[in-house]
Parts: sequence; C-alpha cells; structure tokens
Amino acid sequence: MAGVKLINISKSFKNKQVLTSFSTLIKDGDFVMITGPSGSGKSTLLNIIGGIETPDSGEVILGGKNIRGLKGKERTELYRKYVGFIFQGFYLDNKLTLAENISLPGIFSNMPQKALNERTKTIAKILGISDSLNKHPSEAAGGQSERACIARALFLSPRIILADEPTSNLDPESAEKVLKILQVFQEKTDTTVVVASHDEMIRPFATKIINLGDTTYEAY
Ligand code: ADP
Ligand code: MG
Repeated sequence: MAGVKLINISKSFKNKQVLTSFSTLIKDGDFVMITGPSGSGKSTLLNIIGGIETPDSGEVILGGKNIRGLKGKERTELYRKYVGFIFQGFYLDNKLTLAENISLPGIFSNMPQKALNERTKTIAKILGISDSLNKHPSEAAGGQSERACIARALFLSPRIILADEPTSNLDPESAEKVLKILQVFQEKTDTTVVVASHDEMIRPFATKIINLGDTTYEAY
C-alpha cells in the first residue's frame, strides 16, 4: 500500500494557522485537486506532501514510510524518487537547453551519462518535444516549455506528480493540453497527480477533491 497518508497535519506561519489537524488519504493513481480560496493553504499542503515544508505536527506517510523516521540522505532519496514537482509558472533555467533542464533530476541523483541521455530522449518523445531538445526555453515554441517542465518532473518516474497552479498562466487550450498530459500519465502508469488550484477547469479531471474551504483563522 503506497499512496499518501496525511494524519492530523497542522501548520502555521507566525500567527496564522493555515492547516489544523488536517487528515486525508490519497490512493495510488488518484488525480487530486486541492482547491479553496487564495490563502487557504493549497500550496502549503502541496509543499508538505513534497517535503518542501515541514508540518508543525502530524504525520506524513509516503509510500508506506513515515517521513518522521527518515533522516538526511534517506529522506532526500525518498523524495527524489517518489515525488516530481511541476513548479508554479513552469519555471525552467534559461541558460540551459530543454534537454539539460529536463535531465536535472538525473544529474542530481548521479545517473550515469548514458542512462541520462537515453532517459532524456525517451521522456522527450513521450511528451512530443524531441525536436526542441537543443533549444533554450526562450527559443522554444509555445507549449514546449510547459511540456519540458512536465518531462523534468517525470524524469525519475516518480510515483506522485505535484503541480502548483499548473493552469494559471496558460490560455484555456494550453491548460487543457497540460491537464490531458497529466491525465494520460495518471491513467497509463498509475502515477498519482496532485494539483493545487481553484481553477474549475481541473475539476472534471479529478478523482478526488480536497476542499480547504475557508477554514483558516487567525490564532491568538
Ligand atoms: P494558497 O496556495 O491556497 O493561496 P498558501 O498555502 O500559499 O495558500 O498560503 C496560506 C497562508 O499561509 C497565506 O496566508 C500565506 O500568506 C501564508 N504563508 C504561506 N507560506 C508562508 C511563508 N513561507 N511564510 C509566511 N506565511 C506564509
Ligand atoms: Mg498557492
């Protein structure tokens, strides 16, 4: 049993309580929409799942492992293998080619050069960006950079893809394409997709909806 289990997660910033004893179970292969108004904690929740933020209390269980019990390298390795992040705004490094951007997760995990090249080619082909690999993000045609960001997130075949506001800067047509790509992955490879967004366009793709609603309050 893998998936993600969050048990009684609380998180506050300064005097603002963002999450209060929040619990949920995300199954392998779910397409999760985390929704709620701006400031309700969508990004915070996504970042807690991805290990970028640490909860003040509560348990995060990823792939059956309680994160609390993992230290240093073991923890880094689990996140690197288990989770792929699509950052807000589809950020790529403009000094690097698309191929170099895509392969960064492999470089960080010391993948041998040959395997790195092969994986770059394979994932580029799957996402339809083979012809743009030697271009820099600024030279790539519309939509290619978004695809490259997805390719980078998928590079190490993670079990979960996390995406923060993936449709926010896209026209509806491109947004639909990005969501369809994620859905195809979710359905074909049983990869779990977790999207933080209040964009109603995402709702029909979701198999599970987490509504953070307006549950935050100022702590005294
Ligand atoms: P959402 O993604 O739903 O808009 P966030 O998770 O980004 O909400 O933020 C929830 C609340 O926590 C907001 O009030 C925000 O200002 C606050 N917050 C988020 N991250 C930080 C941080 N690193 N430092 C201080 N406050 C933060
Ligand atoms: Mg946010």
